[in-house]
Amino acid sequence: MRNTLFIFVLLAVSACPAAAADNLNVSYEQLLREITTPPASASAPEAKAAFAAQAEGRYWVTIKASDKRERTALLEAGFDIVEVEKDRVSGIAGPELDGLLSSKSVTVLGKTPLAAYASSFTKDFPSQDAIYHNYQETTDLLRSLAAANSDIASLFSIGKSVEGRDIWCLRINSGAKGETPSSKPGAFFLGNIHAREHLANEVPLLFAAWLLEHRNDAEAKKYISSLDIYVVPMGNPDGAEYDIKTGNYQYYRKNMAKNAGGSRGVDLNRNFDSWWCEAGASSYPGADTYCGPRAFSEPESQHIKRFMETRRNIRTHISYHTYGSLILYPWGGSDDNVPDERDRKVFIKAGDAMGKLTGYYSQKSSDMYVATGDSADWAYAATGAFAFTFELEGRGFYPGSAIVKTSVEKNVKAGLYLLSITDNPYKVI
Ligand SMILES: [Zn+2]
Repeated sequence: MRNTLFIFVLLAVSACPAAAADNLNVSYEQLLREITTPPASASAPEAKAAFAAQAEGRYWVTIKASDKRERTALLEAGFDIVEVEKDRVSGIAGPELDGLLSSKSVTVLGKTPLAAYASSFTKDFPSQDAIYHNYQETTDLLRSLAAANSDIASLFSIGKSVEGRDIWCLRINSGAKGETPSSKPGAFFLGNIHAREHLANEVPLLFAAWLLEHRNDAEAKKYISSLDIYVVPMGNPDGAEYDIKTGNYQYYRKNMAKNAGGSRGVDLNRNFDSWWCEAGASSYPGADTYCGPRAFSEPESQHIKRFMETRRNIRTHISYHTYGSLILYPWGGSDDNVPDERDRKVFIKAGDAMGKLTGYYSQKSSDMYVATGDSADWAYAATGAFAFTFELEGRGFYPGSAIVKTSVEKNVKAGLYLLSITDNPYKVI
């Protein structure tokens, strides 16, 4: 185990003007230029004031926890762990955790009102992060990419969210479109199933743009002609929109389900049927790690399930999250290694290779803490796809726009590596 920070979590979006809705010639380089150019206007003081009111009653808390069992127990109590250090964890606690925090069972090392914590950042508000793609801009860009490359790309919805938004999938395949099956080996890139992790939308979205931009380069061309590539950049559109719709970040993680008892949201990455709601998940509906009333209770997780189950040609998979600079492989919900020794070697080898390309640290997911119900465990167990969880880089929830370019560029390399082994992942061992 390394003793530097392991982190989790998320990033930014915006309510910004769309870049490319009507531009069929949208280019990856142009997208990155937009990302590196700060928007003209920013209203941080107003944003901070508004956020201060919204964050009332929520705290940024640091709690003593020296091993993964203690971390797992905190998750089960509903504590939203964001950062993990050697002997402590930090994250967000709402009023529902007041009892836990004042009990003798935990040692609270620090507690700051969330608004004060947030205001310690200077560039973290939506008006300054306008380069991130909100739902409509993501939809527009996907449509543009599909239209400009209609011979090899198509766009379809894998289903609707709780609030009725389409969950879009861009498919890149020279021989099949839309939902038509393909026997070519498949790769599936999924982003942003946690609402506030907005960089996890940008990375797969712009990877798709990169692939199409470079469609005539030898390497990209080979993958486009021989593979079946799927990109679902925004797996939780309702939550991602909720997190930004006031113009101020909400630090929101879950989907927008209305829970019995009046609380809101299920943690989609605890809702998959893999040791559902055992370790590292909460059965308390108000908790950020709420597993839902049953496995696959949520339309978003149901759609991902059906999508993968009906495409058994998918052999490789990445689910993007933020933050922590980590590449995680199964199991996450059990201390055990995956039982198939050859598969375990593939996970280690491929994880290390992508780690070298990104600078991320690759490890078995449960080496950090045990968390059940996650999508990658389910995907591997149910379909056999080599499923990785990426915790992208960044420090803090909303690190601003400059990080997008570097993160996308290194993850283009990792994505290409995954495509390079998708025909036969066992070739890496
Ligand atoms: Zn996440």
